[in-house]
Amino acid sequence: MPWESNPGALPRQLNLVLLTPSERTTDERARLQGPRAAHLIDVMGCEVGRSLRVGVVDGPMGEGRVVAVDRQRGIVEVEYRLDRPAPERPRLDLLLAVPRPKVLARIFEHVTALGVGRIVLTRSWRVDKSYLQTTLLEPEGYLPHLRAGLEQACDTRLPEVHVFHRFKPLVEDQLHEILGPGARLVAHPSSTVAAAQAFAGVGRAVVAIGPERGWTDYEVSALGACGFTPVSLGSRILRVETACTAALAQLAAAAP
Ligand code: SAM
Repeated sequence: MPWESNPGALPRQLNLVLLTPSERTTDERARLQGPRAAHLIDVMGCEVGRSLRVGVVDGPMGEGRVVAVDRQRGIVEVEYRLDRPAPERPRLDLLLAVPRPKVLARIFEHVTALGVGRIVLTRSWRVDKSYLQTTLLEPEGYLPHLRAGLEQACDTRLPEVHVFHRFKPLVEDQLHEILGPGARLVAHPSSTVAAAQAFAGVGRAVVAIGPERGWTDYEVSALGACGFTPVSLGSRILRVETACTAALAQLAAAAP
């Protein structure tokens, strides 16, 4: 997996070090180098003996201890034990009209930290065509941001990411299969139904967040035909990234 390809996306907080297969030299030892080791040394001041939470992608978590630091070569070696199972996959999914790339990068990180099972990205009528050109829609673009979110929140479950360049075929043909059962909600400022109320008592949910200029009436009705209920996130109209955070937080708080 292309985890290291975006040095600009260095995690701000490594509350958990998510080990990649290439970093795990044995089942109990890992060797970190490059930007992540530099972060551990320079930002976190890691020295021999320092304890770290560690985990593997979609796998277990445990405790690690720094056993060697080579400042000159920028290498950190960690011994670890994985004794806790992988956390459950979050039961909230996000359907998102592709926002501008800078915003998308932040959304990837923040919704992963909040806890999201799937992120389905789609073009919609009011999405600028150029937003679809971004490398953030490719694994090498989004994985570093998802990783930063997991390392922030101490999770190992990587959200699934699905990208669709056309709204109609997604909603008419593919969405049922991707989502499965659960509440389907489309966040729409004109709705009078509170998101938490529409979700109450249901085990899992997907919430659809529109583009900065909003969903069109056609899109709201196409989502309605696919089982989505329009819901409100409150009386204030929020920016897309704030709406994503608010929606997941409101639904998480209402989860049974
Ligand atoms: N003028 C646009 C409209 O009326 O739809 C505003 C779009 S808003 C900036 C971007 C997206 O965030 C919306 O499509 C919606 O999904 C979500 N959103 C923002 N504030 C919301 C609110 N208070 N209730 C429900 N959804 C909201």
